[in-house]
Amino acid sequence: LVEIKGLQKHFQSFLALAGVDLTIRKGEVLCVIGPSGSGKSTLLRCINNLETYDGGRLYVEGDLIGYREKNGALWEMPEGAIARQRRSIGMVFQRFNLFRHKTALQNITEGPIHVNGISPKKAREEALLLLRRVGLEDRADSYPDNMSTGQQQRVAIARALAMKPKLMLFDEPTSALDPELVGEVLQVMRDLAAEGMTMVVVTHEIGFAQEVADRIAFMDGGRIVECDTPESLLKNPKTERTRNFLQNVW
Ligand code: ATP
Ligand code: MG
Repeated sequence: LVEIKGLQKHFQSFLALAGVDLTIRKGEVLCVIGPSGSGKSTLLRCINNLETYDGGRLYVEGDLIGYREKNGALWEMPEGAIARQRRSIGMVFQRFNLFRHKTALQNITEGPIHVNGISPKKAREEALLLLRRVGLEDRADSYPDNMSTGQQQRVAIARALAMKPKLMLFDEPTSALDPELVGEVLQVMRDLAAEGMTMVVVTHEIGFAQEVADRIAFMDGGRIVECDTPESLLKNPKTERTRNFLQNVW
């Protein structure tokens, strides 16, 4: 579903992604771990077109992300096409970025109605189903400020799912939560994985990665140092760098 070859990203002269190669199959759950500044968020943001890349190629379902390719060269893509690509990929951030003046239901129906042109009635029905899926069917009319951080994050997941994404990206979705609320968000993600959603999850929850991931990628210095099954990577890391990192967090 996702094919990344030699992906590079500079911030001025700083190389944040130094040649990332990665293939993600449909239905696969890939967890990405690594120290702060290793390029995890930048990688997700490139996949979702929130960031441009300046080297390599990135395809989602065979579709080159962010650029048009002609005669082997890359050309800028019109804003409209970029927005269309972005829409087909769901993203959940560390900080819940819900609209504060909209209810949970309105947050979820906003995109389907105004971007996808779904009828309000249909959007509402689907949103209620999604709220049930994340265990919040009774909070449809609540405003974000009146919900716990865990509930807000579950609404954010439902909102991303409402756009029927082919891929879901999570950037440390539980690291801003109170510890006792982490479990409920991880449970929603676990269910989503079990339903076959293709997911890339940047996380510090190594236990979650061990349980849910098909593969774990360890990033350092803008590269994927090692990418393997949880079993191999966690129990039998092949590189010193991976071993050192795991010793500190696991
Ligand atoms: P963390 O675990 O702290 O979230 P990360 O692995 O997600 O870290 P990134 O946010 O991808 O790391 O950042 C990778 C590097 O790129 C960092 O050194 C960061 O300072 C740099 N960087 C990221 N975004 C920008 C930006 N907009 N401008 C300049 N430098 C940036
Ligand atoms: Mg980050």
